[in-house]
Amino acid sequence: MSDLGTGTVIGLEVHVRLATVTKLFCGCPAVFGASPNSRVCPMCLGLPGALPTLNGDAVRLAVRAALALGYRVERTSEFVRKQYFYPDLPKGYQITQYAHPLARQGSLRVPDAAGGRRVPLRRLQLEEDAGKSVHDQLESSSLLDFNRCGLPLIEIVTEPVLRSPSEARAFLVRLRQVLERYARVSDCRMEEGELRADANISLVDSGGVTRAGRVEVKNLNSFAHVERALAVEERRLAARVAEGHAPGAETRLYDAEARKTRALRGKEEVLDYRYMPEPDLPPLRIDEASLRAAADGLPPAPAEVERRLIEHHGLSPQEAARIANTPGRAAYLEATVADGGLPLARTASGLVLGQLAAERKRRGLESEADLLPPAALRRLAQLRLDGRLSARTAARALELLFRLREPSPSDVDELVASRQLTQVAEPAELERWIRQALAAHPGEVERYRAGEERLLGYFMGEVMRASSGRADPRAATLLLRALLRSAEG
Ligand SMILES: [Zn+2]
Repeated sequence: MSDLGTGTVIGLEVHVRLATVTKLFCGCPAVFGASPNSRVCPMCLGLPGALPTLNGDAVRLAVRAALALGYRVERTSEFVRKQYFYPDLPKGYQITQYAHPLARQGSLRVPDAAGGRRVPLRRLQLEEDAGKSVHDQLESSSLLDFNRCGLPLIEIVTEPVLRSPSEARAFLVRLRQVLERYARVSDCRMEEGELRADANISLVDSGGVTRAGRVEVKNLNSFAHVERALAVEERRLAARVAEGHAPGAETRLYDAEARKTRALRGKEEVLDYRYMPEPDLPPLRIDEASLRAAADGLPPAPAEVERRLIEHHGLSPQEAARIANTPGRAAYLEATVADGGLPLARTASGLVLGQLAAERKRRGLESEADLLPPAALRRLAQLRLDGRLSARTAARALELLFRLREPSPSDVDELVASRQLTQVAEPAELERWIRQALAAHPGEVERYRAGEERLLGYFMGEVMRASSGRADPRAATLLLRALLRSAEG
């Protein structure tokens, strides 16, 4: 779109369900998939006379989310009624926050090619979810399920600073990582609507003046939908501008099957929500003790963990991102490496991301640390680094170590010695294996001598087999060449 001198500006409004046992203002269980209208009570159905009781655990999780995203938590915030009519909203209003939200001015660092970009966050508020309309079960009418009414949500609003559909997606991926794996405030199952986004997009010229938009695309519930819907809108708006139009604000829905958006309503019809203070709930006060409780055990942000892995432990950005995928894995690597130096960190990281990650997944364990204590991994990585274990024998050693319960570093040494796993560079022993391999394949030796030099790799494979993977590859290759040459003459 550079020919038009325009750029794209995207903002996101994200709703995330907090992982509480009960709903935000009543004792109904907060469960997914229960039979319709079985998890409801007079409060969440909005029956007259029912009074809300604020769920303290939801407040704790919301504050924890705010701290994980660098927000300033307000000591006092207020609930309001946002009034509108919709069939899935039995009370006729939603209890949310407006002028005095729970937290302001957060930020989230999103990875990009230049090493990361800080996306400012405007506000974070605590609110209840609405029910769900089901349109595809009966031909002529819709059904309503109120189980979702009153589930606790946080709403996170970014400044409109994202510059492309792919950056919007990267933001959401990072947000989910922080909330699900680092702060652990939500399960963030997008297919169950636990993390959903509304995205607004505008096109601006080089001076920042809006040329098209701001168009809002509602209710996107997968990373792919967010990126595709925004790309569709970006192209549609650019085409309109190129035709000489200046499309105005409107709200659209994304049709994932058709990969198109369609108009829902014009933004001109701004709904008047007639916000009013919620008379049945006092202002929400967060004291020092509840701030501390919410912050308990909160790990540093993934961007910070990645930076330390790169700068202090010498990992590549890709390795660092994979290690920092969960805070547990990053802590495990750091405990393993301690201050062992860069080569040790990279060797250990390779083992963690390779065989350990695969085995953890296979066994359905929470963390790689459940497979092997850091001290034992450190000993193994050291042996690999010293060249005493080859890639193959290190893999074999890991396989055997996985069968032991909490092996110690000396268990690693014992196992390597008893199973004869150390690499051998000793010439007499190497020669024995090489001669064995050559004697078994006289035909190939002939062909090698006739000029088929690529057979060297084949012989090396045979030598490795004869030595059960213990032959030092460098020393063995040199000796193999020499023996093939000398046999020639
Ligand atoms: Zn209820």
